[in-house]
Amino acid sequence: MSFELTVLGTSSGLPTSKRFPTAHVLNVHERFFLIDCGEGTQIRLRQFKIHFQRINHIFISHLHGDHYYGIFGLLSTFNMLGRATDLHIYSPPELQKKVEFQMFPEEFKFKIIYHPHNFEKPETIFENKNMFVRSFPLQHRIKTCGFLFKEKKKDKNILKEAIEKYKFSIKDIVLIKKGNDFVTENGKFIPNSEITLPQPVSHSYAFCSDTKYYEEIISEIENVDLLYHEATFIHNDAQIARTTGHSTAREAAMIAKKANVKKLVIGHFSARYASAEILEKDARVEFENTVAANDGDIFDIELDTILKVKDKN
Ligand SMILES: [Zn+2]
Repeated sequence: MSFELTVLGTSSGLPTSKRFPTAHVLNVHERFFLIDCGEGTQIRLRQFKIHFQRINHIFISHLHGDHYYGIFGLLSTFNMLGRATDLHIYSPPELQKKVEFQMFPEEFKFKIIYHPHNFEKPETIFENKNMFVRSFPLQHRIKTCGFLFKEKKKDKNILKEAIEKYKFSIKDIVLIKKGNDFVTENGKFIPNSEITLPQPVSHSYAFCSDTKYYEEIISEIENVDLLYHEATFIHNDAQIARTTGHSTAREAAMIAKKANVKKLVIGHFSARYASAEILEKDARVEFENTVAANDGDIFDIELDTILKVKDKN
């Protein structure tokens, strides 16, 4: 099982030699979700050894170039690799026209299924038996959505000794795993807690890019294990953040604190700062458990550890 985030790009509009524009990959039990697709995303996927063909769902927050210019190259590569599986793209509705203007998707061997955002209110946009994804409006210069990826409540595991002792039927097992108590043939009541292990933890990740300080999102991202929030500027540059529809690192941290998240990861750094340390420090004034991401950082959300790509290879 895995619930793991790889950060592919951490710059804002201007890429640098060390920081590519925004793109993240979330691996949920070997299903790969690509979140934003800035220029060079496919290069980062190669560098960080992420299997292209496992990506069947792409989420684009908004249509500023640093969040989607990579989609054209990636689609082209998918086609050259002989992809046949449907690709789902969750994005502002205009993306479809941009792809059709720029490329010839009718020649692709795979089908693209577009799911346009609802910018009016939060909604569930993807669901399978293990997890769901919700989109929610952010506040930026143009219409923008954030995303929440959350595992559903997991079934409980039954203690081996209890299985041997009570010889449960298949129907009993299903009910006990869901949290029901058990009654023996003689009418003896056995509480669920005596025959199961504690409830397995369900994990969650929220992605908020780009946005100014916006408390409306708190109810959507409350208590997540890992919150990514853009932090383009330091607090001394709050005025520029205001006028460009972005957040300061300290504002990202205030959102993390108010939403009671476990860990905050910040990115989308302005190229004006030589190092992200200054942004991390700025955020820690409000929220201590903050990490300024570098391209290639891997956040193992289940184990709450951070790996660098070089450690993994
Ligand atoms: Zn933007």
